[in-house]
Amino acid sequence: MHPENKETEVSLELPTDTSREVSPHITLWASISSTIAAKVNEDTFNRWFQQLEPLKISDDKLTLLAPNKIFQYWIESNYQNLLDQASEHSYGRRLQFEYLFAEDATTRSAGAPMTPQNPVSEEQTIQEMASHSGLNSRFTFGSFVVGVANQFAHAACTAVASKPGRTYNPLFIYGGVGLGKTHLMQAIGLKILESRKNAKVLYVTSERFANEFIDAIQGSSLPKFRKKYRQADVLLIDDIQFLGGKERSQEEFFHTFNALFDGHKQIVLSSDRPPSEIANLEDRLVSRFEWGLTAEMQPPDVETRVAILGKKASDMKIRLPREIFQFLAERIRTNVRRLEGALMRVASFVSLNDGKLPDTPQLEQLLKDILQEEARRAITVEQIQKRVAEQFDVRIADMTSKRRPASIAFPRQVAMYLSRELTKHSLNEIGDAFGGRDHGTVLHAHRQVRDRMSKDERLRQLVASLDDQLRR
Ligand code: ADP
Ligand code: MG
Repeated sequence: MHPENKETEVSLELPTDTSREVSPHITLWASISSTIAAKVNEDTFNRWFQQLEPLKISDDKLTLLAPNKIFQYWIESNYQNLLDQASEHSYGRRLQFEYLFAEDATTRSAGAPMTPQNPVSEEQTIQEMASHSGLNSRFTFGSFVVGVANQFAHAACTAVASKPGRTYNPLFIYGGVGLGKTHLMQAIGLKILESRKNAKVLYVTSERFANEFIDAIQGSSLPKFRKKYRQADVLLIDDIQFLGGKERSQEEFFHTFNALFDGHKQIVLSSDRPPSEIANLEDRLVSRFEWGLTAEMQPPDVETRVAILGKKASDMKIRLPREIFQFLAERIRTNVRRLEGALMRVASFVSLNDGKLPDTPQLEQLLKDILQEEARRAITVEQIQKRVAEQFDVRIADMTSKRRPASIAFPRQVAMYLSRELTKHSLNEIGDAFGGRDHGTVLHAHRQVRDRMSKDERLRQLVASLDDQLRR
């Protein structure tokens, strides 16, 4: 358990179920949450899901009681897919989720509406359309903060959204985890739906695409699967790197791609790396992915990080002093999702402590694991070279020298591989740190090591152990 987990101490006066039989909403939620527990880490589960209490189910709608609105916001932004999958699994079809808030129950006068959502019907239909397309109505262009690091990708996405199929096709967005790729892709889908309600917009992860494909083969429903994907007007495929190594899914996707492309339908893809660097991806797909426009996203600078925090907070009507935003933005640099997670924690803390702000030690305690995660990222190429040299018993100088006997060249390649995996440096910067080699050499080393690892279990373990030591 986590000592900072103050939320668990809040007790609530709620109508308790008097019947002896366990009510369906309770068993249902128990089943859904056990699926979730298996898929998220323990801390996430305790912090967010365990605090939810099922209140009732009717008309495929499960009502959950959450400590406050932040819970709904956070779960919908990050775990809605997971919730949907878990509910399909436990309930047989997709559930809707409604949230009530304990905060409201105690602070609002009786008779006031418990739920803040009083959606206008117009908005509701867009929301329904969106969720039908696999989109989360929160990820709009309006809620995206543009800074130097993402302005190119943002501009490409708005161009595609205003003229789908007629500007850049496909649009390929890549960059590190938590930098807003999914957000921008979804914004494209939402924007298109806003102007053309009957557009067939389809958002899926490549994993989901592959799973549905396999289900379709097994259930002899390939025609239906193909119809769904090949008749889309806009296909948004997230995290395409997971198609790597899945040969039959790649083959299927190749034909999907061609059908859509030939019909001038918009295709948008995202990945954590450029097309040519996706492991085990067929060349014909790599080349197609490069046909249109490729846009990279970088981690936002500190001003943008502060602006993002300000925006998220104001969207959620959270009031926090600027120093807290500054603290968070300075300490959390590489991942906006993590930054947002930290904000939610602080906001939740404040809300559950009658508005009292945490002092710095409390803040550090509250964000301990997030700050540790962040610190881990600060691995340098020098540390990697040193550790690898020790492991292979070569001199550090050999890491940067021009000498090429295999006994030296291979450890050097391993160090390049790890530098690529563990630091945020570009290929050129890594090449420079290895005695002025060019980016092609680093890329080659990375591939070489990766390929050898896939065939050589001992090497794989060795590299995994180096990776682990360096992260610690
Ligand atoms: P990725 O798909 O690149 O891993 P996401 O799109 O899921 O990242 O973004 C992670 C979280 O960070 C989301 O909640 C998203 O809204 C938020 N986010 C990322 N970049 C921005 C930004 N520039 N402005 C506002 N929110 C952002
Ligand atoms: Mg994503």
